[in-house]
Amino acid sequence: MTPIPKTKARLTIIGTGMAGMAGMAAACFASANHIDTVQVGVNSGMIYSSGFLDLMGVHPVESGKVWDNPWDAIEQLISDAPNHPYARLSRSDIRAAMDQFMAFLSAAERPYVADKNQNTEVITPVGTVKPTYAVPRSMWAGAKALKEKQSCLIVDFWGLKAFSAKQIADMLTPRWPAIRYLRVSFPAVGPSADLYPEHMARSLEIESNRIALADAIRPDLGDAMALGLPAILGIYKPREVREHLEELLGVAVFEIPTIPPSVPGTRLKEALDKRLVAGGIRMFAQKRVVTAEVQKNGSFVLSVGDRATGDVEHIIESDGVILAGGRFLGMGLHAGRKAIREPLFDLPVFQPPDRALWHQTNFFDPRGHGINQAGLEIDALFRPTDLAGRPVYDTLFAAGSILAHQDWMRQKCGAGLAIATAYGAVKAFQKML
Ligand SMILES: Cc1cc2nc3c(=O)[nH]c(=O)nc-3n(C[C@H](O)[C@H](O)[C@H](O)COP(=O)(O)OP(=O)(O)OC[C@H]3O[C@@H](n4cnc5c(N)ncnc54)[C@H](O)[C@@H]3O)c2cc1C
Repeated sequence: MTPIPKTKARLTIIGTGMAGMAGMAAACFASANHIDTVQVGVNSGMIYSSGFLDLMGVHPVESGKVWDNPWDAIEQLISDAPNHPYARLSRSDIRAAMDQFMAFLSAAERPYVADKNQNTEVITPVGTVKPTYAVPRSMWAGAKALKEKQSCLIVDFWGLKAFSAKQIADMLTPRWPAIRYLRVSFPAVGPSADLYPEHMARSLEIESNRIALADAIRPDLGDAMALGLPAILGIYKPREVREHLEELLGVAVFEIPTIPPSVPGTRLKEALDKRLVAGGIRMFAQKRVVTAEVQKNGSFVLSVGDRATGDVEHIIESDGVILAGGRFLGMGLHAGRKAIREPLFDLPVFQPPDRALWHQTNFFDPRGHGINQAGLEIDALFRPTDLAGRPVYDTLFAAGSILAHQDWMRQKCGAGLAIATAYGAVKAFQKML
């Protein structure tokens, strides 16, 4: 029998993709700090991402108060909920985390735009408006058009499901009277063909298809100053695709996220993976950490296996681990019949005392559900703690949505929480070196 190959590293990051933002951000910070790092995870989650980076939008969730200034919101949150993971970080650390991550994205040719002291209102796939912190460059003209109420045309396509320009325009018209909608055929396919965002994005990387698309839209452009399209403007060359359409049509062109699978998520994954590998991160993509053991000297032995079968293919030995496995979707936590467990290290999980308290009776209860506050409690160095508040292991850290005492979806802080806590965990690991 062939022996199972072994790899040694200073740090192992468990979790990748985006969803998987915490693992991805941790890898960016580890790479920037030249930490010898291995990353293991299943990438497919990344296609969930809308592309927006929320930092802090809503607090308290009970009242649904929406904040213009995310920093003021964080300050209020920390004062009201001192157990929230943001309370483990200084304001300057959170800023540094966001700045460094955005610089990393720019260097990977996926630039973001943020008004650093203010949230930006953006259009969602269903035509609602939400506050976010940073917006992909390809979507920025939409935020500007919305803010300035510019004359705008939203376009969708015969055969593309779950993206309706009419619905978006209808939803926004009360606050944005100068918005119109149009449906056209996608170049080189008939009106009855089913369309998928990723195929459309690849197709628009071909120049002749962009010319045909511009020709289809031009007669209805009217006085529009901005043109909104679903997020399909290329996978590998999004800037080139968007700028070419702007040149052909003479208006600002922007993307609106589609529901998953998401082209912006795929773009980010492709670009970040390339950049991280070039930065020295060793990746075990589409693999899972199947078992984890702690040695007498405090280091970790992790077995890595096939995501489907769990068959062990590789052993990793590392001095430290950042656990960024997410909650239930990522399978960082497991909800059993009676209790919620952390399956890999069997860490204590903060959770409601009884399953009956996991959910409110009403799904849309403004207080949110108890289960969405479940997760790992951590010390000041982002180490999961036991019931007495002591770190379970000296060099095991946790980041992202697996952490307790936060409801990222309602608080509109998903990416910010993932990025900032990943920054905190990498910084804490460095202190231990
Ligand atoms: C549909 C959807 C839309 C979203 N939209 C936005 C948005 O508009 N703005 C925003 O800011 N945020 C958004 N988010 C949230 C954002 O992506 C969060 O930051 C993120 O989901 C939390 O990241 P995470 O890395 O902590 O966990 P997850 O995203 O759950 O990722 C955890 C990863 O760890 C992996 N993993 C778990 N266990 C193991 C193991 N044993 N071995 C290897 N890998 C493992 C999982 O496979 C997964 O890839 C959205 C999320 C979803 C699901």
